[in-house]
Amino acid sequence: MAVVGGEPRCKNAPASSRGAESRGARVQRYSIFSLARNALNDHADWERAWRSPDPKPSYAVVIVGAGGHGLATAYYLAKEHGIRDVAVLEKGWLGGGNTGRNTTVVRSNYLNDDSAALYEKSLQLFEGLSRELNFNVMLSQRGLMMLAHSPHELRAHQRLVSAMRLNGIEGEMLSVEQVKALCPILNCSPRSRYPVFGASFQRRGGTARHDALAWGYARAADARGVDIIQNCEVTGLRLEAGRIRGLETTRGYIEAAKVGVVVAGHASVLAAMAGLRLPIQSHPLQALVTEPIKPVLHRVVMSGAVHVYVSQSDRGELVLGAGIDGYNSYAQRGSFHVIEAQLAALKELFPIVSRLRMMRQWGGIVDICPDASPIIGKTPVEGLYFNCGWGTGGFKSTPGSGFVFAHTIAADEPHPLAAPFALKRFETGRLLDEHGSAGVAH
Ligand SMILES: Cc1cc2nc3c(=O)[nH]c(=O)nc-3n(C[C@H](O)[C@H](O)[C@H](O)COP(=O)(O)OP(=O)(O)OC[C@H]3O[C@@H](n4cnc5c(N)ncnc54)[C@H](O)[C@@H]3O)c2cc1C
Repeated sequence: MAVVGGEPRCKNAPASSRGAESRGARVQRYSIFSLARNALNDHADWERAWRSPDPKPSYAVVIVGAGGHGLATAYYLAKEHGIRDVAVLEKGWLGGGNTGRNTTVVRSNYLNDDSAALYEKSLQLFEGLSRELNFNVMLSQRGLMMLAHSPHELRAHQRLVSAMRLNGIEGEMLSVEQVKALCPILNCSPRSRYPVFGASFQRRGGTARHDALAWGYARAADARGVDIIQNCEVTGLRLEAGRIRGLETTRGYIEAAKVGVVVAGHASVLAAMAGLRLPIQSHPLQALVTEPIKPVLHRVVMSGAVHVYVSQSDRGELVLGAGIDGYNSYAQRGSFHVIEAQLAALKELFPIVSRLRMMRQWGGIVDICPDASPIIGKTPVEGLYFNCGWGTGGFKSTPGSGFVFAHTIAADEPHPLAAPFALKRFETGRLLDEHGSAGVAH
């Protein structure tokens, strides 16, 4: 299969020895035919999916953070704006942050017009992405339901669905019977501890493969000449007369005309390097998976009230997400009491899981704004842009976020879809409260 990181297993010379343009022209296409051709040679001739170049002394644009958002930004800078003199700097390995740790849910069921437009743009990009990137991001639009456990919650969901429809986004309400029909393993008894009163449902919601998204963007950005530099931590930002000049890194100083920072839970750390304070809190958010079982769950089911959501992976594992850990932390692990409460609630909703063993548990660091909406745009430092605050829900927005952030950097003015998400809203008070749509507890 494709070599996606580490040392190449192929016989080819490393692509880093080639020019960006020539790589662009020669990049290997993935198809059933190339799979068959390479099978004949025991898969020894696959090209590296991306190069591992040394950093150059200067770039037109440097993106900090090779998560999905950073890689997507670099890809759209090259593709949409013809800016190829771009480096993406990553302190660890690409996709090793929240991008590779999330529970892969995608949807666009947001309440506010501005959020709906941005998340819907993202979902639309997702829908054509495997073809565009020539990389299967395994989008599975199996439908996503958000449960209501009280008449009050039901009304809130009705309001959400109405808002979605007014914004041209499909959405519908489900009765308890319809919920049960779509998800037979859910405990819908009126005597249960968390009785189900109905649900809102987005048929186009579902899941996508998180690693594939990062790898697909990385490969496509690299093919357009973007340098992806892993194991390169940014340790300082050099400013001069109110504008960005370059970055101190563990691999030396790099000059840059523009810098886009997309480091999720570490946004405040990078902002502090430029003397800025962001209205962001960093929290652990954890997830876990059960042992694999036969297909029993064909939708994504979320319950904001009990802080649990669940889907079944292609391998058969039930993928479980919870609410955030309430304290601030930069450790990529959560605490046991959150999992305990999560599993107790899960068992009430899905009694079938009570005898299942949990296989793996992990955490990421999410960056949460007071209004649970992201910050995208310019900063008081000229040439320095931030994209952060996606909190518990930024995987689904990866394509849209990269698309609008690339525009914002290239044009030095916000993309119309990004404009409402400017940092300035914390001065003007025009906040975009999306705690209700966040899906899990903040
Ligand atoms: C457990 C969990 C479950 C989630 N579930 C979902 C879900 O189901 N659906 C959804 O939409 N969202 C979900 N999310 C949120 C989603 O994962 C994130 O919002 C999204 O992945 C953020 O992407 P990113 O590219 O901005 O950040 P990341 O993928 O975290 O990338 C940021 C990168 O910056 C790098 N970095 C940090 N500091 C530096 C530095 N100084 N120098 C260089 N590099 C640096 C990091 O190493 C990291 O690789 C979940 C998150 C978690 C943790």
